[in-house]
Amino acid sequence: MVLATHITAEKNQQDFQRSNCFSNKNMAEVKIIIPGWTNADNMEAGSEEEKTSCTTTLIKDGDLVIVVDPGVLEDKNILIKALEKENLKIDDVTHVFITHSHIDHYRNVGMFPVLTKVLEYGGIWTGGIAEDWNEKFSEDISIIKTPGHNYDGLSFLVKTNEGLVAIVGDIWWKKDYPEDDPYASDMKKIKESRLKIAEMAEYIIPGHGAMFKIK
Ligand SMILES: [Zn+2]
Repeated sequence: MVLATHITAEKNQQDFQRSNCFSNKNMAEVKIIIPGWTNADNMEAGSEEEKTSCTTTLIKDGDLVIVVDPGVLEDKNILIKALEKENLKIDDVTHVFITHSHIDHYRNVGMFPVLTKVLEYGGIWTGGIAEDWNEKFSEDISIIKTPGHNYDGLSFLVKTNEGLVAIVGDIWWKKDYPEDDPYASDMKKIKESRLKIAEMAEYIIPGHGAMFKIK
């Protein structure tokens, strides 16, 4: 936020704050391009096998075009078509971000050219070279470690005009679910990660469901 202490007239102050907080800069944009789902919370005992597909999200921030969790899809064209709807081709994607190393979230990383940068817990990969990532990735995007579902969980915090959106992988699979994660590597850590996210974010994009509001 901008402190407009030198502005005296109330009207000017409002204009000043509005223009400095929002209008002067195009903030990052976040959009779910492939909705995630799971039937894990809706299975009749023994009647069906668990099926799942992760949420795939697009972040646009200036020249950055980021696909978070390219997922495991029955057909790669689902992702190609989802990008086409945003007027993007696979080659336009500058980065692929992976929330955690479960294959339902990263299987399709190979669809992108070898020089597309891939960010995961261990670094930012370009071909076979990895460099460290920083918590502050860009002016509007931060990366924090959120272990618990898996040791290598990352969450991506994006400042948007609507508020701070956290893309959290399977820290939540969907809104309010699961309370106790049967696949958690560490239930204590997942609870800590949830608290940390809830303190910071207004909106959450979970690993297998629609975006929900937390504040
Ligand atoms: Zn998952």
